[in-house]
Amino acid sequence: MKKILVTGGAGFIGSHLCESLLEKGNEVLCLDNFFTGSKRNIVHLLQNPYFELIRHDITHPFFAEVDEIYNLACPASPIHYQYNPIKTIKTSVMGAINMLGLAKRIRAKVLQASTSEIYGDPIVHPQKEEYWGNVNPIGRRSCYDEGKRCAETLFMDYHIQNKVRIKIVRIFNTYGPRMDVNDGRVVSNFIVQALSNEDITIFGDGSQTRSFQYITDLIDGVTRMMDTGDEFIGPVNIGNPNEFTVLQLAEKIIKLTRSRSKLVYMPLPSDDPVQRQPDISLAKKKLKGWEPRIQLEEGLVHTIDYFRERLKKQ
Ligand code: NAD
Ligand code: UDP
Repeated sequence: MKKILVTGGAGFIGSHLCESLLEKGNEVLCLDNFFTGSKRNIVHLLQNPYFELIRHDITHPFFAEVDEIYNLACPASPIHYQYNPIKTIKTSVMGAINMLGLAKRIRAKVLQASTSEIYGDPIVHPQKEEYWGNVNPIGRRSCYDEGKRCAETLFMDYHIQNKVRIKIVRIFNTYGPRMDVNDGRVVSNFIVQALSNEDITIFGDGSQTRSFQYITDLIDGVTRMMDTGDEFIGPVNIGNPNEFTVLQLAEKIIKLTRSRSKLVYMPLPSDDPVQRQPDISLAKKKLKGWEPRIQLEEGLVHTIDYFRERLKKQ
């Protein structure tokens, strides 16, 4: 049995990760400041004697004896990470320093939840890990993008200078049950709007693309990455390469929910990337047996079922 710390464990991805690690027979410490996470996501785990919930902000040092650390703490939706941009960048940078310092001291393995956003508005398509990206350092998304880029730098430097055992995964747009109703990201927004027969808010003309990964495929990928030998540190892209325009996503969701919603067009937020698609050949090679298994329509059906129940309880 391993002792595993998950920062951001009460969030969308974190709660699925805690659940999966417990199912595999590990002891899990879930750390969260509940900025975007919620007790609702992990309430079903609270009775498990191998699960511990700690309210803590990772911009402050934290100490515990663990074998592995998954560093997920950071708001991920643009509306939430732009709410307090200074706090967002502090979470990425000071959070990384605190978790790397802890990993160094207790000799734990530490995995960073990085993001496709480190490629910015990519000129190279699809994105391979070698691509350095096209990122605005002073825009509305910079607190998130540059914070995550700096965290990757810190991970590499602690590895080179202090031999900390690191893993970096670059996560592409992931969706699924337990996204918050007010999360603000495209999949949850469109599903909530469609189920309520409200207007579906297309930002820009909807021709921008994203590649959507279902949550279980991501959890499978990140846990396999943690279990690789120390010589493979990444960064590695984890995503589903099937690329859709935002308009195609809206149409699929309207069809699956049989919604009466109409599309409304709103201004495109600044620096919104035009296209995004992961090249996952490295992940397929190194994370033996991993590949995305749930395609968009199936994943949307599960997610719609979840939101249908959630909205009934509102
Ligand atoms: P989320 O907002 O649901 O989860 C983030 C969690 O971190 C929340 O529980 C929040 O309360 C917690 N948190 C935020 N700041 C904190 C702090 N200072 N101290 C302690 N806890 C803090 O988002 P998510 O989609 O689950 O994302 C989890 C991680 O994965 C993030 O690091 C995000 O950048 C990364 N990621 C997610 C996606 C995606 O598509 N979902 C894509 C790329 C990267
Ligand atoms: N988007 C949209 N309507 C919404 C929310 C988002 O058209 O209600 C668009 C957004 O402009 C972006 C894409 O959907 O082009 C994905 O946005 P999201 O915030 O989910 O993720 P990110 O931009 O960080 O990939």
